Amino acid sequence: MKRVGVRKGATVMQDIDCVCACREKLPIEEKRRVFAKFYALGSHESQNAYLFACTEFTHTQEFPNGRQRRHFQYKLRPSIGTVMVCQKFFLGLHGIRRSRLRKKVGSATLK
Ligand SMILES: [Zn+2]
Repeated sequence: MKRVGVRKGATVMQDIDCVCACREKLPIEEKRRVFAKFYALGSHESQNAYLFACTEFTHTQEFPNGRQRRHFQYKLRPSIGTVMVCQKFFLGLHGIRRSRLRKKVGSATLK
Protein backbone atom coordinates (compact mmCIF):
# COMPACT_ATOMS: atom_id res chain seq x y z
CA MET A 1 0.00 0.00 0.00
CA LYS A 2 1.35 3.39 -0.98
CA ARG A 3 0.70 6.52 0.95
CA VAL A 4 0.74 9.92 -0.64
CA GLY A 5 3.29 12.39 0.60
CA VAL A 6 5.29 9.98 2.70
CA ARG A 7 8.71 9.09 1.48
CA LYS A 8 9.76 5.91 3.10
CA GLY A 9 12.52 6.39 5.60
CA ALA A 10 12.66 10.11 4.98
CA THR A 11 10.93 11.31 8.09
CA VAL A 12 10.83 9.94 11.57
CA MET A 13 9.16 11.10 14.71
CA GLN A 14 11.63 12.23 17.34
CA ASP A 15 10.68 12.13 20.96
CA ILE A 16 12.87 15.03 21.99
CA ASP A 17 14.03 15.30 25.54
CA CYS A 18 13.83 19.07 26.01
CA VAL A 19 14.55 21.03 29.18
CA CYS A 20 10.86 21.75 29.69
CA ALA A 21 9.97 18.05 29.64
CA CYS A 22 7.37 18.33 26.88
CA ARG A 23 7.72 14.64 26.16
CA GLU A 24 6.06 13.93 29.50
CA LYS A 25 3.00 15.88 28.45
CA LEU A 26 1.50 13.24 26.24
CA PRO A 27 1.74 9.49 25.97
CA ILE A 28 3.66 7.88 23.12
CA GLU A 29 0.53 6.66 21.33
CA GLU A 30 -0.77 10.23 21.19
CA LYS A 31 2.54 11.40 19.79
CA ARG A 32 2.38 8.76 17.11
CA ARG A 33 -1.17 9.84 16.32
CA VAL A 34 -0.17 13.49 15.98
CA PHE A 35 2.71 12.50 13.71
CA ALA A 36 0.57 10.16 11.59
CA LYS A 37 -2.16 12.75 11.26
CA PHE A 38 0.31 15.34 10.07
CA TYR A 39 1.57 13.09 7.28
CA ALA A 40 -1.93 11.94 6.44
CA LEU A 41 -2.64 15.52 5.42
CA GLY A 42 -0.77 14.67 2.26
CA SER A 43 -0.03 17.95 0.58
CA HIS A 44 2.50 20.50 1.72
CA GLU A 45 -0.21 23.14 1.61
CA SER A 46 -2.36 21.29 4.09
CA GLN A 47 0.62 20.59 6.28
CA ASN A 48 1.65 24.22 6.27
CA ALA A 49 -1.86 25.33 7.14
CA TYR A 50 -1.78 22.89 10.02
CA LEU A 51 1.62 24.15 11.19
CA PHE A 52 0.37 27.69 11.05
CA ALA A 53 -2.72 26.79 13.09
CA CYS A 54 -0.53 25.18 15.75
CA THR A 55 1.64 28.24 16.16
CA GLU A 56 0.61 30.64 18.84
CA PHE A 57 2.31 33.92 19.53
CA THR A 58 2.90 34.37 23.24
CA HIS A 59 4.87 37.53 23.87
CA THR A 60 7.56 39.85 22.65
CA GLN A 61 10.73 39.99 24.61
CA GLU A 62 12.59 43.25 24.53
CA PHE A 63 16.30 43.46 25.06
CA PRO A 64 18.06 46.44 26.62
CA ASN A 65 19.68 47.17 23.26
CA GLY A 66 16.24 47.65 21.69
CA ARG A 67 16.13 44.37 19.84
CA GLN A 68 12.97 42.38 20.00
CA ARG A 69 12.32 38.72 19.85
CA ARG A 70 8.92 37.16 19.43
CA HIS A 71 8.12 34.03 21.35
CA PHE A 72 5.83 31.29 20.22
CA GLN A 73 4.22 28.24 21.66
CA TYR A 74 2.98 25.25 19.78
CA LYS A 75 -0.39 23.66 20.25
CA LEU A 76 -0.91 19.99 19.74
CA ARG A 77 -4.40 18.64 19.64
CA PRO A 78 -4.30 14.95 20.46
CA SER A 79 -7.43 13.20 21.66
CA ILE A 80 -6.54 13.96 25.28
CA GLY A 81 -6.99 17.70 24.68
CA THR A 82 -4.81 20.64 23.74
CA VAL A 83 -1.20 20.36 24.83
CA MET A 84 1.26 23.23 24.60
CA VAL A 85 4.83 22.36 23.75
CA CYS A 86 8.02 24.20 22.92
CA GLN A 87 9.35 24.67 19.42
CA LYS A 88 12.10 22.12 19.80
CA PHE A 89 9.71 19.38 20.79
CA PHE A 90 7.14 20.41 18.21
CA LEU A 91 9.64 20.19 15.38
CA GLY A 92 10.94 16.84 16.53
CA LEU A 93 7.51 15.36 16.91
CA HIS A 94 6.60 16.25 13.34
CA GLY A 95 10.03 15.42 12.01
CA ILE A 96 10.42 18.83 10.42
CA ARG A 97 13.19 21.39 10.36
CA ARG A 98 13.04 24.81 11.88
CA SER A 99 13.82 26.32 8.50
CA ARG A 100 10.60 24.86 7.15
CA LEU A 101 8.59 26.37 9.94
CA ARG A 102 10.25 29.71 9.37
CA LYS A 103 9.84 29.72 5.63
CA LYS A 104 6.44 28.19 5.28
CA VAL A 105 4.70 29.59 8.26
CA GLY A 106 6.03 32.94 7.27
CA SER A 107 7.52 34.24 10.44
CA ALA A 108 11.06 35.34 9.83
CA THR A 109 11.35 36.21 13.49
CA LEU A 110 11.00 32.63 14.66
CA LYS A 111 14.25 31.75 16.28
ZN1 LIG B 1 9.86 21.52 25.62
